[in-house]
Formats: sequence, structure tokens, C-alpha cells
Amino acid sequence: AQKFDILIAGGGAAGIGLAASLRKRDKQLKIGIIEPSQWHYYQPSWTLVGGGAYKVKDSKRNTKALIPQGVTWIESAVKDFEPDSNQVKLSNGETLEYQQLAVALGLKSNWDQIPGLKESLGKNGVTSNYSYEYAPYTWELVKNLKSGKAIFTQPPMPIKCPGAPQKAMYLSCYEWEQQGVLKQIEVELDNAGGALFGVADFVPPLMEYVKHYEAKLIFNSNLIAVDGPKQKATFAVKAADGTIEHVEKSFAMLHAVPPQGPQDCLKESQIANAEGWVEVDQFTLQSTKFQNIFGLGDCCSSPNSKTAAAARKQIVVVAENLLAARNSKTLPLKYDGYGSCPLTVERGKIVLAEFGFGGKLLPTFPWLINPLKATRLAWILKRDILPWLYWNAMLKGHEWLAKPFKN
Ligand code: FAD
Repeated sequence: AQKFDILIAGGGAAGIGLAASLRKRDKQLKIGIIEPSQWHYYQPSWTLVGGGAYKVKDSKRNTKALIPQGVTWIESAVKDFEPDSNQVKLSNGETLEYQQLAVALGLKSNWDQIPGLKESLGKNGVTSNYSYEYAPYTWELVKNLKSGKAIFTQPPMPIKCPGAPQKAMYLSCYEWEQQGVLKQIEVELDNAGGALFGVADFVPPLMEYVKHYEAKLIFNSNLIAVDGPKQKATFAVKAADGTIEHVEKSFAMLHAVPPQGPQDCLKESQIANAEGWVEVDQFTLQSTKFQNIFGLGDCCSSPNSKTAAAARKQIVVVAENLLAARNSKTLPLKYDGYGSCPLTVERGKIVLAEFGFGGKLLPTFPWLINPLKATRLAWILKRDILPWLYWNAMLKGHEWLAKPFKN
């Protein structure tokens, strides 16, 4: 078996960023990244693509060009973790050995869990910003819709970027308002959960927009089936007493967000918790079962908001702690749960939600951007600055805006 000092499973936002950060700290380490996809996506831009404010092609780059110099790309997928023997089995039949392992596999969008959804996407008014392929179709639908019912759905938590389902709604409403057709369109958000946003402080500024656009919020209503040709969607609606009723609704446009969960190779593995996420200490991001394993990004059990912004901070914590563990030193850094959800309430304005564990507000620029107000500056940050920061800093091992938090 090929041997590595540090093996990274997954070459997405967290995996590539971690490899770059480790290389910056020590050029002697033999590092490998296991990543099956030739393409790497800047997924946070897909909300803007669906709102007609970003070119989808700009969200996609070759994985090959992003693997840091000196790091080995293993172009295959993890099939099994064998932590007792420090080995990983790949789908191409090979076995790799490691001294330390960082798991950054992202999460799996379970399109198949909603009968009819996969077959309907891209036609009959059914779309999703949660896919490179269909985010442009959202904008096409929005531009052309003049009347009828537009339904936006939100599956049960956890999902990546928990604000993205409602971001799609606000940007669509904004365009309809511009076109003067908003009054003819019946807008609703069917949310499987019971709150508009998980951090209560951000609900009032968001509710102003919900009221302004006259969108209807329906809580405890989970999308369970789609009939594309008939343009009908079925929801399981939970009443206060726990009883569930199935409700069918006709739509002219349906923006669906897939149910999400851990990758298959993780679910049954020894490194996962009961839900299938890599079980880590939420502060050190070290596996609770194996000291030479760390987890970061969407696949880990830490109760933060699953965002690229969270990965940006976790990378620094894992890079430092993993190298300390390598030298049998105490782990120096603690993750504070930082995550960020720039809520695009208008095309041109954003409520920049930044928060940590327990919903604690953690604004990066409190002197510049009021976190509880929709601002133009936050829009500029999201559309023009954050993509640049992602490709040129986060994925290159420059840790700007990711400063570590000491114990
Ligand atoms: P990913 O970047 O998804 O990477 C996971 C990688 O693992 C992939 O490259 C995949 O190919 C690979 N992989 C999968 N299975 C295997 C396997 N078996 N073996 C090896 N490799 C495997 N975040 C924000 O910060 N702000 C936002 O505004 C924002 N908006 C979003 C809007 C949308 C519509 C979406 C979809 C996401 C948004 N996000 C946002 C979330 C952000 O994209 C993710 O949180 C981030 O990409 C997580 O990084 P990751 O490395 O954990 O996962």
C-alpha cells in the first residue's frame, strides 16, 4: 500500500484548503488528497446564479489546477475507512496507508429521497440552486414567470447553507417586484422545520422582507413527492399534536432543496456517530475515537452551520492541532463554531449572518457592516470579494479572515 504522512479524504473547500495550509506550515510532509471529481465548485455562488447575478461557469475549476504543489492527488473515492490499521480502501481497489487522516468528504444531496424530484428537475418549472446544472434554470424560470404559485422548499436540518432555500425566494421576489408581477405570483416557503432561521437575532430583519414581498411561510411542511408533468408537489405537514397529513399543491415554479446526509462510505464506518457524521470534538475537531484522525467541513459532527465560511476557520484549527498531535503536543486551537450565511434579501443587499456555537453573533466587520441590517456592502463582499478570497486565499493556504482562536 502507498503510504502518506497525512491523507486527506475529499478535495472540496475544506480538503484543498487544509492541504494548502499544511504545506505552508511544513513542506516536508508527504500529503495525499483522495478526490474522485475532476471538477471543483464554488457552491456559495449558486444562489447568485439562480438570482441572475453570477455566471455559473465562474463557479467551476479543474481539481488538478487546485491541488497544491507537492501534494499527491489520488483520483478515486474512499470506499471504506479502516482506522484500526490506519488504512483507507478506495473504489479503484487500492489501499492507502496513513499516519494521520483528515476527513473532509462534504455531504450527500439525496435527490432520490423525494420520488419524482430527480426526473422533474430542469423542466416543468422544477429547479434547484443546489446543483451546478440547474441553478441557471432557476433564473430562467424567475425571469419568465408572470403569475401562478411559486413554491420554495426547505428540507429537515442539517443542510449545507441553511439560509440558501430562503435566499432563492427573496431574490426571485425581488426580480418579480422589479418586473411588476409580484402581486400576481403567490409565493410560499414550505419549511420542514419550525423557524425561519436558526439564530433568532436574524429573524426580525428577514421577516421585514417576508412581509414586504408578501411571502407565505408554512412551517413543519416537508416536500415528499413531485409530479413534474402535472406540476404538483406533495408535502407531509406535521400538526402540533404530531399527526402528519399529506397535502398536495399545484405550482407554476418549484424551487426544491434536496434532503441531505452523510456520504455512504462514512455512514457505517467506525469513525462516524449514530447519524453517520465523522464524530469529532466540536472544539479541537479531533476524532473522539482515534487520535490520529480529524474531521472538518460539512461531513463532521460539530454543531455549526455547514458553510464554506465554517470550513475556512476549521482549516486553521485542524492544521495546527493535527501537527501538534503529530508531535504528541497538546492541541493548541479551539474552534468557536463560526459559520456564515449571507442572506441575499434583494439583488444588491444582504443580511450578513455570522455566528458561532449557541447562536453567538461573531461579526467579522462590526465597525463596517451592521450584522442585523440588509446592507449593500455585504452584497459586494459576497459577490466580488468572497469568491476571490476563496480561490486565492482559502485554497492557497493564506489564512486571512480565518484567524485562530487560542485556548
Ligand atoms: P465540499 O466542498 O462539498 O467538498 C466535498 C468533496 O468531497 C467533493 O469534492 C466531493 O467530490 C468529495 N467526495 C465525495 N465523496 C467522496 C468519497 N467517497 N471519497 C473522496 N472524496 C469524496 N457556504 C458559505 O460559506 N456561504 C454561502 O453563502 C453558501 N451558500 C451555499 C449555497 C448553495 C446553493 C450550496 C449548495 C452551498 C452553499 N454553501 C455556502 C455551503 C458550502 O458550499 C459548503 O459548506 C462547503 O463547500 C463545504 O466544504 P466541504 O469541503 O466540506 O464540502
